[in-house]
Amino acid sequence: MSILCVGSVAFDSVETPFGTADEVLGGSGSYFSTSASYFSDVSLVAVVGEDFPAEHVKTLEDRGIDLTGLKTVAGGKTFRWQGYYEYDLNQAHTRDTQLNVLMDFDPELPEEYKDIPYVFLANVDPELQMKVLDQVKDPKLVACDTMNFWIEGKPEALKELLGRVDLCVINEGEARQFADEPNLVKAAAKILDLGPSTLIVKRGEYGALMFHEDSVFSAPAYPLEDIFDPTGAGDSFAGGLIGYLAKNGELSEQAMRKAIILGSVMASFNVEAFSLDRLNGLTEDDINARYAEFKRLTHFEDL
Ligand code: AMP
Repeated sequence: MSILCVGSVAFDSVETPFGTADEVLGGSGSYFSTSASYFSDVSLVAVVGEDFPAEHVKTLEDRGIDLTGLKTVAGGKTFRWQGYYEYDLNQAHTRDTQLNVLMDFDPELPEEYKDIPYVFLANVDPELQMKVLDQVKDPKLVACDTMNFWIEGKPEALKELLGRVDLCVINEGEARQFADEPNLVKAAAKILDLGPSTLIVKRGEYGALMFHEDSVFSAPAYPLEDIFDPTGAGDSFAGGLIGYLAKNGELSEQAMRKAIILGSVMASFNVEAFSLDRLNGLTEDDINARYAEFKRLTHFEDL
């Protein structure tokens, strides 16, 4: 089954302790779609300016992503994000956010997008996420992500959005901030009270936690020696997660658990290089081999 994604397509300028990247292809929509494309068909709704080069469009197209919903604004400038990481790679620090064409984006979904069963509202203005959601007909699963920029800037719209989604994926620090609650278990309960039936908290190099009804599932992150750039790890995680769920067509708790591991697999590849450099060009064997390593990493026998 296929996935509809709305998200940012960006020029990212990133500094990590291991190097820098200047105005490279990024954005929540780009990372999510690329990652999910290894599992399912993906249609992207996004906006760029006239400065967005054809080679980036080709990079996304080469992954088979449907870009009918990618709008180019004549004379407009593409969204830009500048950030840096210190030795704690779990925490992204924003230097500058220029929304540019994202500010006035009023998407009109192509007719064929409206029946897509899996909807991922990647990190972007919650009002824009809802504009997309307003247009889809009878989705099987609606999931969303967000970040501190929107938690601080549009908390009411975000609360309204959460009342309309099944699954929310959020960073640990942002879950605490959004719920205004330092204890993660209590913060999760508060977010679930707003509407979603499942909450997945991304914990960077410590993995992910899923809260669903009374159960909690914990997955590790893959212990990597070479991490260059965590940017996009959260979106790549969501891409593996939703990509697998859409491929599998089933939303049981067991399917969600496996999906979280595949999300972690995709995130672990993404952090090995800047931009989409590692995520592009993966093979099915690469993904299967790392999935098998995850199984070994978490396996233990009852003695
Ligand atoms: P993450 O997966 O959380 O590391 O997301 C990184 C991506 O989020 C970067 O490629 C940025 O372009 C994008 N991003 C940063 N700030 C925003 C924002 N305020 N709205 C939408 N996308 C953003």
